[in-house]
Amino acid sequence: MKDIKVLFASSEVSPFAKVGGLADVVGALPVELNKDDIDARVILPLYRKIKIKYQDELQFLGWKMVHMGWRSLYAGLFQIEKNGTIFYFVDNEYYFNFDQLYVEYVFDIERYCFFQRAVLDFMGDFMNFEPNVLHCNDWQTGMMPMLLDAHFKKHGYHTNVQTVFTIHNLKYQGVHSIDVVREMLDLPDEYLRDEFCIKDRAINFMKAGIVYSNSVTTVSPTYAYEIMTDYYGEGLNYTLQRYAFKVSGILNGINDLEYNPETDEKIPMKYNIKTYKKGKAACKKSLQEQLSLEVNPGAPLCVMISRLVDQKGLDLLLYVLDEMLYDGMQIVILGTGDPYYERALADTAARNPGKMCACIDFDSGLAHTMYAAADIFLMPSLFEPCGLSQLVSMAYGTVPVVRETGGLKDTVIPYNEFTGEGNGFSFANINAHEFLFVTKYACDLYRNHKDVWDKIVKAGMKGDYSWKKSAGEYAGLYSLITGIPLPEKKETPKPVEAPLSAEGDAEVKKEAPAKKAPAKKPAAKKPTAKKPTAKKAASKKAAAPAKTEKAEDKKD
Ligand code: ADP
Repeated sequence: MKDIKVLFASSEVSPFAKVGGLADVVGALPVELNKDDIDARVILPLYRKIKIKYQDELQFLGWKMVHMGWRSLYAGLFQIEKNGTIFYFVDNEYYFNFDQLYVEYVFDIERYCFFQRAVLDFMGDFMNFEPNVLHCNDWQTGMMPMLLDAHFKKHGYHTNVQTVFTIHNLKYQGVHSIDVVREMLDLPDEYLRDEFCIKDRAINFMKAGIVYSNSVTTVSPTYAYEIMTDYYGEGLNYTLQRYAFKVSGILNGINDLEYNPETDEKIPMKYNIKTYKKGKAACKKSLQEQLSLEVNPGAPLCVMISRLVDQKGLDLLLYVLDEMLYDGMQIVILGTGDPYYERALADTAARNPGKMCACIDFDSGLAHTMYAAADIFLMPSLFEPCGLSQLVSMAYGTVPVVRETGGLKDTVIPYNEFTGEGNGFSFANINAHEFLFVTKYACDLYRNHKDVWDKIVKAGMKGDYSWKKSAGEYAGLYSLITGIPLPEKKETPKPVEAPLSAEGDAEVKKEAPAKKAPAKKPAAKKPTAKKPTAKKAASKKAAAPAKTEKAEDKKD
């Protein structure tokens, strides 16, 4: 029998419901943990598409009436067992019978208030599973550690449940009026204080998750450090600094059953590190034909697969897109999101037939073909908590060009022409021409230095991006906060050292709630920046003021 029992709560879980990387993480990590010494299960809302697609597999476990202020609402509990993992689903057609996962911001606040209350009501006897770790993910589940305290632990229930809160993206925080949320969650007044869940006179779900959980993790060590700074902290940097002792960064992995060019059924020709040249050439030809691009094996094919939002650096891309096309690059973008970016990309593609294609769609099959067919993957993100696309592209022998931020900085080693090391290319500043020059440099190596390119591709393909290492770190963390030893000693993630003092932040100076801190505090270590190449160092210097200006804008 496994002693550590973890319940993951999330609004997205692959393969059932996906919008971005959150789904990939909560879909793969519990499966990996279950292979080890952990009993990990997952709970998510029963969205309409899941109900239709999995109707034959869904097993009904029961129902309850869940309180939401003055209302009492039906909540059904279903279950599916898949890949050795149990997935629970919370049913309520009023809240979840929609094709899309997220509907409208204010309604989403209410929907996830209901979800969080239902999960806590089901936990234990009803689902026949009493976890000792409740692992919450992003704002949609951020209030759960506080609710657990207010409605259960205070009354002697679930007293052995410890909580982990993972920040997949600090930008989306779940902010809403105090009166409305207090009523829906039946929160006693003692919880509605600036030092707990109130920020700027509103309830902030993300802040509650940070303050009330036993451990806070983010999805890369660099992002864990960055979010404690003014520039990346999205207004919660002082709160994170205050709780730095329990904040750590654990890199995501990728699902190697889904993303493996040797076994991938979705790509035109399978290949491995020995046969990649032939395999990728066949995939490239097939994609060029499929998208009516000029069938030219020598043209560097640069792709991007992403949510089309400003975070992903689309302004940088749009600024230099014409110059990239003029340089002879072929460009394919797959994504949906902000209508402004959708239109701007479609317009440029329409002006450049045969050279560029903008696929405004969510298409997993096409995404796999693009990862296999491309030569270069573009990821000029303004910030990137971890990023999965750069890992998938490296596994498929597609060389990433990234901005040095968050998980991109932790996973992409920029090519160094002096030592020959590197699995990709990177640039430091939010500067479109820095992005353009690095991409042009990559294209030059692709066209004129085949031996160097081969080395970079192989360095990427050799990398281990599996969940095994990260799952080991999560297991170590669960063991640390529950005090339950694991048969095999696992590495525990190191807390991050706060970059600045919390001086001047009134709300964090006040008394914080008494928490059960992690048993041991290993020595904190700042993530170290990789040595820049001569080229990079020069470009960093030239463009530095651009970033300073932007940081000041944000503070104002
Ligand atoms: P984020 O979580 O910020 O969206 P990540 O890089 O962590 O970004 O994860 C994005 C995931 O979603 C990747 O697996 C990527 O391939 C996939 N993805 C994003 N947009 C699309 C799309 N339009 N069609 C298919 N897959 C997509």
